[in-house]
Amino acid sequence: MLGLKQPFSDVRPIPTVEEVVDKAFRRARKGCQTPPKTLPPHVRVRIREQSRVRIAAQVITSTLDRILRDFPRIDSVHPFYRELADVLVGVDGLRKSLGAVKWARDSVRRIGDMYASKLRGARTVSDAGRLRREAYGRMASILKQVSENLDFLREARDKLVRLPSIDPEKPTVIVAGYANVGKSTFVKSVSTAKPEVAPYPFTTKGVVVGHRETEIGIVQIVDTPGLLDRPLSRRNRIELQAIAAIKHLPGVIVFLLDPTETCGYKVESQLRLLDEIREMFGEKPIIVAANKGDVMKPGDIEKIEERLGEVPVISALKGEGVEELLQKALEAIRPSPSG
Ligand code: GDP
Repeated sequence: MLGLKQPFSDVRPIPTVEEVVDKAFRRARKGCQTPPKTLPPHVRVRIREQSRVRIAAQVITSTLDRILRDFPRIDSVHPFYRELADVLVGVDGLRKSLGAVKWARDSVRRIGDMYASKLRGARTVSDAGRLRREAYGRMASILKQVSENLDFLREARDKLVRLPSIDPEKPTVIVAGYANVGKSTFVKSVSTAKPEVAPYPFTTKGVVVGHRETEIGIVQIVDTPGLLDRPLSRRNRIELQAIAAIKHLPGVIVFLLDPTETCGYKVESQLRLLDEIREMFGEKPIIVAANKGDVMKPGDIEKIEERLGEVPVISALKGEGVEELLQKALEAIRPSPSG
């Protein structure tokens, strides 16, 4: 809807070494020059073999070059995505593999030039054929040496293209709280259009991204099911790093509590999660609200307020208090001049 893109979304599928080699030699066979029959045989063969070597080298270098151009420069990738990429595939491996592909591209280019010039001096039909086969052999061997790097990049690419599109430059409201407290209902109720559900490789459920035009511009409202909805102490390294990446998003956390406990979790556990998230996201403003106001029973809200003092009560389902809560969140992103 907003044309937002994550940095890896345009990386095209990475071919295998066999595919690159087959394509290069096939194109070279089909596309090479067929010199006029009037020329002596060794000249015709020389011209043909020369053009085969040129085409093969050209197909390989441009295929490898495409890979290098498709990947964003790791150092220019926003820390949010860099951290996610690091968890998913490892940025050191990414750098190393791209470096190897660059080496292969330059080497194949050099071999192509070298053999095209060697072929100019070929005196016989068999000389020309031998030089062409030698050139092919060396190009194939270069590619074989980066075979594992291409495999690495292929797997990495297939994972990285699935990262959700969250614009790390835009203010973001990150909605946290236990499962079933009403996070996605809240995202829906304050988003202009239907929130997009994008796959998030760290959780079984997708990440929910809503957008909203506000006085501070377009704001993203994000729910990351499976990440900020249970105790961090039970997280594995990958989940923790995926959670840590969220720190790089500019904005505010809205933490929803369900005092009715119909979500299936005790208020006590919910408050413990809040403490953990406060600790993890110390520098980020956190706004706490109590959801399901429409079905609260007497005494429900007190369980929360005796710990936290007064908190806004909303009903995400009925759309009550949600605008005020969003407003409060926006003020935390950019404090009003009076406040
Ligand atoms: P999430 O897992 O935190 O994203 O929770 P959901 O938004 O999926 O909501 C879980 C359940 O709680 C759903 O059945 C919602 O309809 C319900 N729910 C969410 N907000 C409210 C609310 O304000 N009032 C009531 N009564 N139910 C709500």
